[in-house]
Parts: sequence; C-alpha cells; structure tokens
Amino acid sequence: MKQRVCAMKYRPKVDLDKCIGDGACKRVCPAKPNVFELRVDPKTGNAKIRVARPEACTGCYMCVQVCPRQAITITER
Ligand code: SF4
Repeated sequence: MKQRVCAMKYRPKVDLDKCIGDGACKRVCPAKPNVFELRVDPKTGNAKIRVARPEACTGCYMCVQVCPRQAITITER
C-alpha cells in the first residue's frame, strides 16, 4: 500500500482576527510562487490575507517579522 508523504516543512498561518490586510507579508515573501494572496470581502470591503500556497514556504520568517499585527505564525514539522 502506498503512503502519502507531505513534503511541507513549514506551515504559515494567518490569524484573521488580527489581520488588517495591509499586504506586508505578501510583499516581503520571497517564495516563488508567493505564499500569500490578498482577498477583499465583497460584503465588507475589508482586505484579508490568505495562505494560498503553503507548500511554497521556505521558512524564512520574513512575513512574521514585518506583520504589524503579529498575525502570522509558522509551525515547523
Ligand atoms: S516564512 Fe518566508 S517563505 Fe514562508 S510565507 Fe513567510 S515570507 Fe514567505
């Protein structure tokens, strides 16, 4: 039987209660493709960051350092 192996070593997570959607994490993220996407809620007009491609994260922690609200955490496997 084949086992599925997850290659992700780092898992970025955004606390949406803290996120103000300024996009600092997206601008600083060096990963290609970028780990983050900026989404605007059509109902409220509020922007929030979404972790769109967690598998691209290299664990540099730049997003954690630049977030003005400490909304991002990285867990390591
Ligand atoms: S730790 Fe680095 S590579 Fe991973 S999401 Fe943050 S800025 Fe991007």
